[in-house]
Amino acid sequence: MKIDIDSIKKGGQNTLDLNFALDLNTIDYYGDVMNLISPVDVNGKIYVIDDRLYINLSITADMQADCSRCLEPFTYSFKSSVNAEFVHESLSNQNGEEPDEDIIYYRESTVDLDELIKENMIMNIPMKLVCHKGCKGLCSNCGEKIEGHSCDCEIQESKEEYLDPRLAKLKELLEQD
Ligand SMILES: [Zn+2]
Ligand SMILES: [Zn+2]
Repeated sequence: MKIDIDSIKKGGQNTLDLNFALDLNTIDYYGDVMNLISPVDVNGKIYVIDDRLYINLSITADMQADCSRCLEPFTYSFKSSVNAEFVHESLSNQNGEEPDEDIIYYRESTVDLDELIKENMIMNIPMKLVCHKGCKGLCSNCGEKIEGHSCDCEIQESKEEYLDPRLAKLKELLEQD
């Protein structure tokens, strides 16, 4: 979504409500590709004060994910918010100061929000996605999913804390010595 600042100003306004859908399909997440099941929903407001823009957005999207505990695919409902300040590049370095990292400089009179939204999403997707909070993962003994299925191992069920299957394997190896 490109925002034309001049047209906001020409309309004699200094705020603009935003409500649009961004069709991304995929997100490049540190080398992994995450598939989106819905368009990215963007809602928010832009405030224009002279050559400065303040942007508040909320972002939601449904993504296809694999649970990091039980490895089953599930739909992850992503939510985040963006607060950003855009400043016209003619105002940068006016006092010979280092450019402020929190400020995004724009040229001419348009601001593109897509990159900002994509970056925000990548930063806010957790490294470990879990299908639901209490997911018990896989049995360290037989590798079966623990929930909704009862293997005969009864190893993990009796433990209070969830043990990562890989750690369990390591523990097993250490105990053999
Ligand atoms: Zn799970
Ligand atoms: Zn088992």
